[in-house]
Amino acid sequence: MKIETIAIHAGNNIDEASRAVIQPITLSTTFERGPEGDYPGGFIYTRAGNPNRQSLEQVLFRLEGGADACAFSSGNAAGGCVFQALEPGSHIIAPEDMYHGLRNQINEVFRGIHEVTYVDMMDLEKVERSILPNTKLIWLETPSNPLLKITDIKAIVSIAKRNNIIVACDNTFATPLFQRPLELGCDIVMHSTTKYLGGHSDVLGGALITKEQNAFWTRIRSIHELSGAVPSPFDCFLIVRGIKTFPYRMRGHAENALKIARYLEDHPSVEKVFYPGLESHPQHEIAKTQMQGWGGMLSFLVKGGVTEALQAINKVTIFTQATSLGGVESLIEHRASIEGPQTKTPQNLLRVSVGLENVEDLLKDLDQALSL
Ligand code: PLP
Repeated sequence: MKIETIAIHAGNNIDEASRAVIQPITLSTTFERGPEGDYPGGFIYTRAGNPNRQSLEQVLFRLEGGADACAFSSGNAAGGCVFQALEPGSHIIAPEDMYHGLRNQINEVFRGIHEVTYVDMMDLEKVERSILPNTKLIWLETPSNPLLKITDIKAIVSIAKRNNIIVACDNTFATPLFQRPLELGCDIVMHSTTKYLGGHSDVLGGALITKEQNAFWTRIRSIHELSGAVPSPFDCFLIVRGIKTFPYRMRGHAENALKIARYLEDHPSVEKVFYPGLESHPQHEIAKTQMQGWGGMLSFLVKGGVTEALQAINKVTIFTQATSLGGVESLIEHRASIEGPQTKTPQNLLRVSVGLENVEDLLKDLDQALSL
């Protein structure tokens, strides 16, 4: 089946009793046992498994071409489960521009438990030189947040495999429509399903998808159930519903984003645009080899500095000034201020999550916001 068909059918089970075409939400936390003490319905207790979560997990691993998936209550919970699954004392190599929420999690929650080295993932030699005898995980995020840097996934996988290291890739920005990390050799894909998969900025969620069933995945499944960071049945229902339209939404996001990126590139008030679909993007050639589309995220530097950037962001009327991404509405944000004082993000950088409004309206809004 092709991705559009998987998105619609793989997470929806017609209810046997009522024949409801759309799977109902099963709120029950517990499930009746049979006369032998067995579980004829296949479920015991909702933290361990629930029909809506099972449907969500099914569609997720089918979309990424994996063997299994775990759905979590947030993207950070999903990422955290991978770090928890490592033996204490493990060394992690992660991108220097890793999503700041996960970076803070490693630094604070796993302080004293794991070691971490942040590296520029474009510098393959540096990645290789950072490997220690206890390196167990290379974490990738491509395109990265907020500079849209592209990591050469196959090259990193080949370094990792020579050294027996697990590779996990945060595929939130690209989505399985535009990038297939498991096919490029990664072991695990992570998503914040809060973003494009949910797609409507109304539900928080996360996911891990494995290429194959193995000991590391068994440990992840066990932590998932025991630590209990699972999404509610209603959250699962909303994400399954969002996924049904995600391939078409993604194409719309990407089409609008490319037009906006090209427009901004020629704008006199803009110093630089970061979008992997632009020929000027430093890793555009790598992006072409591993992405089938460029996604809906871009960022740009406003000429001048922080004052000019904040002036522009305060003038938009259709874009909403807010953090997050992947919803149908366009968002714009001054990234450095959300990332906090240690941020390396330039102070004049604005990050845009391009929505599905008519692109002419979006361009007009940016035009008036950037006019002096
Ligand atoms: N990964 C990326 C690339 C993100 O942008 C985010 C959230 O913004 C996350 C992970 C964390 O996801 P969540 O907010 O669902 O915990």
